[in-house]
This record gives sequence, C-alpha cells and structure tokens, in this order.
Amino acid sequence: MKKRWSDEGAAEAVRRWGNEHGEDFALRLYGAQLLGADNELVLFSGGNVSLKLPYTTLLGDRVEAIYVKASGAELATLEPAELVGLDLTYLRRLHLLDALTDAELANQLRLSMFDSSGPTPSIETLLHAFLPQRFIDHTHADAVLALTNQVNGTQLVQEVMGDDVIVVPYVRPGLELAKAVAGACQANREANAVVLRHHGLITLGDDARSVYERHIALVDTCEGFVRKRAEGRVLAVSFQQKEAPSALAARVAPLLRGALAWETGNEDQPYSRSVMEWRADDHLLELVNSTLAAPLATNGPLTGDHLIHTKAVYLLVDDPQWEDEQRLRDQLTEAINTYRTEYTDYVSFNGGSMEGIDPSPRVILLPGAGLFCWATSKRDASAVADIAEHTLITKLRADAIGEYRPLLADHLFNMEHRALQRAKLGRKHDHPLQGQVVVISGGAGAIGAAVGEVCAENGGHVVLTDVDAERLTSVVEHIQARHGRGSALGVIMDVTDEKSVRAGFEEAVLEFGGVDVIVPNAGIAHVAPIDELELSDFHRVMEVNAVGYMLLMREGIRILKRQGLGGHIIISASKNVFGPGKDFGAYSASKAAGHQLGKVAAIELAPFGIRVNMINADAIFGSLECPSGLWEEVGPQRAKSRNIDPSEIPEYYRDRNLLKARIHGRHVGNAVVFFASNATPTTGATLPIDGGVVEAFPR
Ligand SMILES: [Zn+2]
Repeated sequence: MKKRWSDEGAAEAVRRWGNEHGEDFALRLYGAQLLGADNELVLFSGGNVSLKLPYTTLLGDRVEAIYVKASGAELATLEPAELVGLDLTYLRRLHLLDALTDAELANQLRLSMFDSSGPTPSIETLLHAFLPQRFIDHTHADAVLALTNQVNGTQLVQEVMGDDVIVVPYVRPGLELAKAVAGACQANREANAVVLRHHGLITLGDDARSVYERHIALVDTCEGFVRKRAEGRVLAVSFQQKEAPSALAARVAPLLRGALAWETGNEDQPYSRSVMEWRADDHLLELVNSTLAAPLATNGPLTGDHLIHTKAVYLLVDDPQWEDEQRLRDQLTEAINTYRTEYTDYVSFNGGSMEGIDPSPRVILLPGAGLFCWATSKRDASAVADIAEHTLITKLRADAIGEYRPLLADHLFNMEHRALQRAKLGRKHDHPLQGQVVVISGGAGAIGAAVGEVCAENGGHVVLTDVDAERLTSVVEHIQARHGRGSALGVIMDVTDEKSVRAGFEEAVLEFGGVDVIVPNAGIAHVAPIDELELSDFHRVMEVNAVGYMLLMREGIRILKRQGLGGHIIISASKNVFGPGKDFGAYSASKAAGHQLGKVAAIELAPFGIRVNMINADAIFGSLECPSGLWEEVGPQRAKSRNIDPSEIPEYYRDRNLLKARIHGRHVGNAVVFFASNATPTTGATLPIDGGVVEAFPR
C-alpha cells in the first residue's frame, strides 16, 4: 500500500483551496483525494471523509460545523462543494433518539445543512458527527474486508491489526451504527481506528495527514498478512482454455445482451437495453476458469455498499457450450431467466417491491471468456466491473485465510433496497437513446462527427469509424470531454474491406456488448461528366459509397439478428438520389445504390423488428473545427459546374431551398435520434433534410 501524502502535494492543495476555505479544509480535500486515488481502498463513489470546523452564520454567530462528503461523490476528484457543511450541535442531539427512519434521517440531514441547495450528505454523516475527532477517514478497503468477512473475523482483525483497533459488529449504516461506534469509542478513548465488520475501516485524529497515514498503515498491515496467506496458491482448473477469450467474448456478447434486455411492456420501446464492460486479464480468467468460480460468484458481497451496483449474487454460467451457438443461446437464456425468478422471489420473500427494478444479473462469469458486467451506461458498467473484479479477487484471498462469511441475507436485502442507498444511483434519465449503441461510418467527417455528438447528447454510446486516425481521435476526444469517457469509441475502419469492417464491429461489441443503430455514412465524391469519367474514379466512388454501405449493413445486420432486439439502420443517402445534378454521376449513382439497398433491407428486416430508413441531406459544409472533407475536395469543381465562385457555394445551396435554410450535420443527427427512438412506426422511408428542394421531393 503506497503512502501518497507529500509535502509538495499538501502545499499545492493549500495554495489551491486554502485562501477561500482555510488550511484544514484544503488538507481535508487533499487527504480525501489521496484515498480515492487507490482502488484497493475506494471503488467508484465508495468511502467518505469529514472535518469539523467552526462556521460563522449570516448573523455573525460562530457555530460548530461538520463537513461531510456528499452521497455518491467520488473521493478521487472531491471538490469543495462536495464537502457538505452541517450544523454539528444539532446533529449530535439526534443521539437522543432511539430510532430514525431513512426518510427522516434524510430530512434531518437536509434541515441541518448550511447551504440548502447543496448535495445530500453521506448516509454515514451521523457516524462522523457523533465522534469527537476533527478528521475522519472511512473506506471499504479490500484487505480489511478480507479479514473482517471471516467466521472468526473479530479475533483475526485484533490479531493482525493489534488491540488498539476497536472492532464493531455489523450494524446497518444510519443512527444505529453511529451510536454503536460512538459508544465503542467512548469506552476506549485512546483508540484512533475502528474496524466495522462486513463494512470497512475508520481512522480518527486531529490532523489530516496522521489520519490518512494511519489508514494506509493499517490497510498495509492487513494486505501483507492476506497476501502472505494467499501466496503461491494454485487453483484447480474446471475449464480448459482453447480459444482466445476475446474471440469468445465477441461471439457471446450480443447473445448475452439480447438475453439480458428487459421487456418494458411498451410496444414502441419494447426493451430496456444495457451496456457492457468486459474483463479478462490473466488473473481474473484463471479464477473464472477454476473450480472456485461457483462459490465465489454466489457467496455474497464484501460490503453492503456494493449491492446497489452488482446485486449480491453473480451469475456463473457453468460449462458454456462454445461449440454450438444455438445451445449456447439457450443455455444463457435459461440461466438468466432462472436468475431473474430467484431474484424476484428473494425480493418478495423480504417484503420488497420490484417496481422499477430489473431482476437481471449485473455480473456474469463465463468460463473461457471472463467477466461481463452490465449497466445502463458504460460508466456504470465500468463501476460494476471494478467492484466485481475487486470482490472476486478479495474473496479468493479471504478463502485462503479461512472461511469467508458475508453479511446475513436480511442485512444484504436491507442495504440493497433501502431508499438512501438507491438514491445514490441518481434519478433515472429517460434519454431517447439510453442504453443504445450507435455505429457511424465516416465518423471523423462533418456529418459523422455531428451525428455522433447529437446521439451522445441523447444518451447513446457512439462508435465512430473512419480511415483518418488523427481526425477521428480529435472527434472522439471532443465527445468524451462533453459526455464522459465511456460515451464514444473511435475505430479505424476501411469500409471497403470486409475484414476491416468485421474487425471494427468486433471492437464495438467488445466495448459495449452489441450494437443497436447502424449509420452508413462514410462517403467520397468525384466531379466529372460521364464521357470523361475514368473507370478507376468511378470504381473508387462506388467502392466507398455503395460497397462500403453494403458491408457496413451486412456486418451490422448479422449482429442485430444475433442480438434479437430489433434495431435500426439509418442510411445517410443524399438529396442527389431524387434530385441529381450534372457532372456528379459517380456520386449520384453510388448514393442511389445505397438508398436502394436500404429499401430492400427494410423489406428483408421487418420480421426481425429492424427498421431501415434513409436520410437525404443536401450539401453540408461542416464547421471550422470539423470541415467537410468531401466538400473541401469537390467544392471548387461543383462551383465550376454551376458557374459560380467556390466561396459562393454555401449561399448558393441555401438560396435554392424553399426555407432558405443552411443544412448542418446536427440536423442529420437529430433525424438519426428521431428514427432511433422509435417515435413513429416507420420503415423504408426517406426523410429529406434540405430546406425543401422541389425536384428532390421523395416520390
Ligand atoms: Zn461505509
């Protein structure tokens, strides 16, 4: 365990936040971020910290205050606004109560805040408030959990961490836990660390540095002990790896995604889809392929905090039928359906409600292929995977120490379904493309980039493909900066090459689990009258615009069919299909081919619930940041064909449409979102985006 505190880092924190918030507050933030930087201490939004400071009210009164991490905030990137200030004197008086419901606890916390518009403070705020020490660090460190989650956990913790550490039996977070910890600390005033069984570690003190360093030292001691016990262990193999895990994962992911989709009962939006994070490094794969996979998948979480993300039980599909796709599909469907029934029974047995809860597994172990984690966004799927990976590895170590003992089932249920925990998941946003994966060819160009951006704004995950690596990277980074790292993937793809297209889809599937919307869009143009058209130029345009569209559709359809959730193909055709212009034969013919392929696909794919529609946009010139490559190349010649100066081209196009509208890539993006959100039962249709060009009216 690395001690990350440095004098320079601390000084930098004081420079950054000290002026406005004071030195203690700045060091509080610094220590919190250091804890968060270590994923063996803190996963996702786990762990919390606090600081006690006086606060001056509007009337000039000096009152005692506590600053606690906001619920759901991440320690690694903790900001001043995410340390919520509360009235400490009042909170301490809640000690007088015997019980406090979740709703009332949440209400009391909000009533005690100094900034009523601030985020909700941690569910563990009272625990921090009832203790006298000024600085408190709390994590759910892997190594500590490996020790406490044992049949003889208390004894083991005491043996390894020493008698100075207080061990508190499991109590559910809230008033009861806060009182239990305060009581234990009062009986032992010298203690500066508390282990909460089946939960985590707390260190206490009066300065940020010593509290942080004690935390690290204690976790380090546990880790050393655990590692030593687990060292050199050889796992008994239950599955012989023959094929590369990535090949198996790419094959199975769309089947899994299809089986996992939850039926909504809404005819227009029949499925709630999820997005995948796949992991299969050597260590993890060894575990998944071992005889221990079954007990480790099902013997409970490390701490109650993880449950809202992963559920208590992971699904292991034993002996997957890799050789036979139909048998594999049946096997997965059956396993997932059994899991759902058991989960629903478990909730009803505990008197809970399934309203708004998808009973499907979040973590699936497949021998040969690794760990598959699912959520409604890539960000959440990665969090599920982080938790699942740490949990499995830590439980494997715990198993080497003695006998792993998770929380009792009723405690687990309580932690997964209590309102304060579920609130951490945030409000559900119903973005039109939530959980959908959109593949767009020509993603680095003006139209493709804009379509990607608009789809990401609407909750979609986008795969942008292109041959221009440099421009593609810049478009993908731009989308990621606005919508999160998991929102976009760049794939180098030559749409005229079968192998490249297939490999590109495989990359998309390994990243997100499958695809839902395919947008053939990569195109080139060439200006020449037919009698001067070189065969090689004609071939070149046909290869990209017609063959390219066909290949993208073909590979995409294969995945959509295997996934079995319907889907969309939205073809970026052209105004030219209905309203051609002279000297543009190669382009017009190739676009008409793509458009016609779309109509045929609409007929062929309707029985599978796959809708195919076409978008006929007029010329799009891009923006300064993302100019249109196509127009840079052919603009001057098109101007010549129309007897105008190249600089007048955008105005020329605007002027010739009924609405006098300039057409942007974002307009095409809006149309893609319209089709992909199933707003109308439409297939085989063409939507013009041209401001109204009479000769190009669809007919
Ligand atoms: Zn906790």
